[in-house]
Amino acid sequence: MRSKKIMYSLISVVAGVVLACSLTACSRLKSAADNSVPSSAVPVASVSAASRMSPDEVRLTAATAAFKAIPHPVEYQAEVDAICSKIASSPALFISDIKAVDAADTEGYLVYIDKTHFIGSDYEPADLVPLVKNSAYPINRNDLSLRAPVEEALTVMANAAKAEGLSLLVSSTYRSYSYQEQVFAKWVRIDGLEEAERESARAGTSQHQLGTAIDFGSIEDDYAETAPCRWLTKHAAEYGFSLSFPQGYEPITGFRWECWHFRYIGVPACELQKAWFNDIQQYMIEFVACWRDAE
Ligand SMILES: [Zn+2]
Repeated sequence: MRSKKIMYSLISVVAGVVLACSLTACSRLKSAADNSVPSSAVPVASVSAASRMSPDEVRLTAATAAFKAIPHPVEYQAEVDAICSKIASSPALFISDIKAVDAADTEGYLVYIDKTHFIGSDYEPADLVPLVKNSAYPINRNDLSLRAPVEEALTVMANAAKAEGLSLLVSSTYRSYSYQEQVFAKWVRIDGLEEAERESARAGTSQHQLGTAIDFGSIEDDYAETAPCRWLTKHAAEYGFSLSFPQGYEPITGFRWECWHFRYIGVPACELQKAWFNDIQQYMIEFVACWRDAE
C-alpha cells in the first residue's frame, strides 16, 4: 500500500516536471517568435537581457547612458566611470535609493542648474520669507530671504551649531534674476570677465535664484579655517545642506572652490550624494535629472 502510494507520487512528480518543461519550451518558442527581428540586426543575448529587465532597470540603463553622455572633462572620466560601475553593481539598491529621493523632493529642490542649465528670468520662489533678527543665527544685512522650509532647516542647523558655541553668520541668500545681473556685472568690473566667471554666476544660472542657497561668514577662503566653517563641512549634510562647489571640482561645477556656499537639498538627497556620488552635489544633481528624463 505504502509503496504504491510512493510510486503514484513519483509518477505525478515526473509528469509535473515533464509538463513544466514542455510549457517552458512552448513559451520560449513563443517569445522567440515574438522577437521576429532579423538575428543579424540585434544580438540574441541583448534581446533576452533587455526582455528580462524590469521597467526600473530599463530606466536606470537609459539614465546611466545619459549621465555618461554629459561632457565631463577627461581628467574626471575615471571618477564618472567608477560611479557608474558602483551603480551597475547594485542596481536594485540604487533604484530604491534614487526613487526614495525623487519621491521625497516634493518641494522641487533638486533643480538642475549650472552654467549650461538656466532657469528663467521670471523664476521666483513663491514661499520666500525675509530673514529677521533671531536667536539662532546672525544676519549681516536686512534684505535677506530664503524659501520658508529652508529657513526652518537653517534654524535647526544653526541651533545645533549654537549648542556647540558656534555662530553661523548668514551673509547672502536669495537673489532675484535682476539682482544677480548686477552682482555679476560688479564682479566683471572688479576682476574682469574671466575671473568673474569663476566665482560669480550669470543671471539665470545662480543657485541663489532658487532661494535655497546660503553664503556663510566672510565669503572668503579664510572662512574655511574658522570653527563655524569646519562645523558646517562636517555637519551640514545632517540638516540637508550640501556644499555646492568643493575644492578640486571647478571643471565639473564651473565654479572655483567656495567653502561658504551651501545649497539646501534635503537630508535624503545629501545621503544619496554621499553614498553613490563621491559626495559631489553636481554629479548627483546631473544623475537625478537624467533619471527624471528617462521616465
Ligand atoms: Zn553663493
